Amino acid sequence: MAGTASTPAVAHIGIGSNLGDAQANCLKALEALDGLKESCLIRASSLYRTEPVGYENQEWFVNCVAMLETGLSPYNLVLFMQEMEKAAGRRRVISCGPRTLDLDLLFYEDMIIRENGLTVPHPELIHRRFVLEPLREIDPGKIHPVLKKTVDELYLALHDVKQVWKIS
Ligand code: AMP
Repeated sequence: MAGTASTPAVAHIGIGSNLGDAQANCLKALEALDGLKESCLIRASSLYRTEPVGYENQEWFVNCVAMLETGLSPYNLVLFMQEMEKAAGRRRVISCGPRTLDLDLLFYEDMIIRENGLTVPHPELIHRRFVLEPLREIDPGKIHPVLKKTVDELYLALHDVKQVWKIS
């Protein structure tokens, strides 16, 4: 079974920040993911400067996407991701508002999960240029297990007109 110590799984994780030093927050998150138990970073996208979605009266975000090999289950991985958000000083004040660190589990192998408050693939990923652009950079051929389309196809079908600029 994927996500056990004997057969690690591949997880795709979206990372974002727009409070404090947003670039440094994203880079620290990549390092912390690489240091998670039973896990190692396989690939990381460039950093992107992105226009906010939803709540628009805030700083632009920095976003990137990581590909992680992990022996953690999806539930344990998300628990660790939430610990990382807390450690970065994240507080939920406004929905979609400013945050020091936001981590989303985009894909976990080809698993489809809709239980215990967890939805994978992440339901918003197909609508967001700030996710699909970095995801396409590192894994364009990844197939969405529900829609049966590649990340590249999803990117080309995007309607999101928010701006996304590669910064490094
Ligand atoms: P957010 O405000 O985007 O950080 O949402 C966090 C909440 O969404 C937490 O309660 C998570 O358990 C839940 N959640 C559901 N699906 C996911 C997912 N695929 N990745 C991250 N958080 C998720």
